[in-house]
Amino acid sequence: MNVKEKDQYYIANTYARFPIEIVSGKGSTVVDSDGKEYIDMGSGIAVNIFGMCDEEWTAAVAKQLTVCQHTSNLYYSAPCVKLAELLCEKTGMKKVFFGNSGAEANEGAIKTARKYAFEKKGKDYYKILTLNNSFHGRTITTLAATGQDVFHNDFLPLTEGFVYTEANDVEMLRNVVSENKLAAIMFETVQGEGGVVPLTQEFVNAIKDICEKEDILMIVDEVQTGNGRTGKLFGYMHYGITPDIVTTAKGLGGGLPIGAVIMGEKTKDVLTSGTHGSTFGGNPVSCAGAVNIISRLTFGFLEEVNRKSKHIIDELKNADGVKSVTGLGLMLGIETEKDASEVIKICQENGVLPIKAKNKVRLLPPLNITEAELAKAISVIKKAVKVG
Ligand SMILES: *Cc1c(COP(=O)(O)O)cnc(C)c1O
Repeated sequence: MNVKEKDQYYIANTYARFPIEIVSGKGSTVVDSDGKEYIDMGSGIAVNIFGMCDEEWTAAVAKQLTVCQHTSNLYYSAPCVKLAELLCEKTGMKKVFFGNSGAEANEGAIKTARKYAFEKKGKDYYKILTLNNSFHGRTITTLAATGQDVFHNDFLPLTEGFVYTEANDVEMLRNVVSENKLAAIMFETVQGEGGVVPLTQEFVNAIKDICEKEDILMIVDEVQTGNGRTGKLFGYMHYGITPDIVTTAKGLGGGLPIGAVIMGEKTKDVLTSGTHGSTFGGNPVSCAGAVNIISRLTFGFLEEVNRKSKHIIDELKNADGVKSVTGLGLMLGIETEKDASEVIKICQENGVLPIKAKNKVRLLPPLNITEAELAKAISVIKKAVKVG
């Protein structure tokens, strides 16, 4: 059996894979098992912030691997402390809990919110409000947080205590808030899996006012939008808000598994000894890689991300076959006249790998994609979206 056949035989069938086996890559170019090269416009779903096998990142990871690959959280360890310090300095947040994935980060945030509300307001204030079309993860609790019935149906009953409202509808938000005893409101600033839909400033302002007035925690899920993806270090920074909890994962490790619950002034001391934990959380190798990633997301670098973003939007928004382009930074969704899957297939045939979000073609290239790679990707995408 070849890799594809063995995969179908031995790997749980949870993924509808494209007929491509990626074997290697450098920067924004990846290579399949036939030696064909592609421009990677997906970055392993917003993970490979500096592309494949970036030299600086690889060196940081390799160095840590020769010193200590893992200890446990029974002992102190420098790389995770360094990363937490960097994240706090760059955000103004106060403390960090490390796990291994986005779902685990959101679980940590939900536990923190429940404990905060329980201690401040009592046992009735446990509900978490999330948005329709959100995506927060695949565990039973983060599935409950995910406001999309399609993900729920086969797994009922889910964790109790989640209520939903429509993104960007302030009136409905106020109604749902008034009808429920809430611990927190949790949202993505740009809904990723939900179709690359940014929240409006007005809607985020309304959440901010409600959270401040009623001492409801604001949790921002930056698993996808974080780590420079939207042209700022975190997506919430576009909106002038100070969240109580920020979760992130995906791009944080630059390709190694890591997740983080970043806590603000109100929440920094909620989790106490024995109330939460993770065996691999704060893994030295993942953290060494993440320190390298985060320290390179400077203002100047992010300006470049924004310039590339503007270039893509300018090139695509009026292109033949494009209905709209949404998103922020290098997290963009293209609504096309053709079916998105058809566009993606044509792109793949022509050496470009975009991905999908709902009915849109989604672009999440490495943030350091070169001008030449970007130009090729744009030209292939333009041809692929063209009708007839
Ligand atoms: C991907 C994603 C998650 C889940 O992350 P995993 O690492 O797959 O558990 C959660 N929230 C958002 C916004 C995501 O994009």
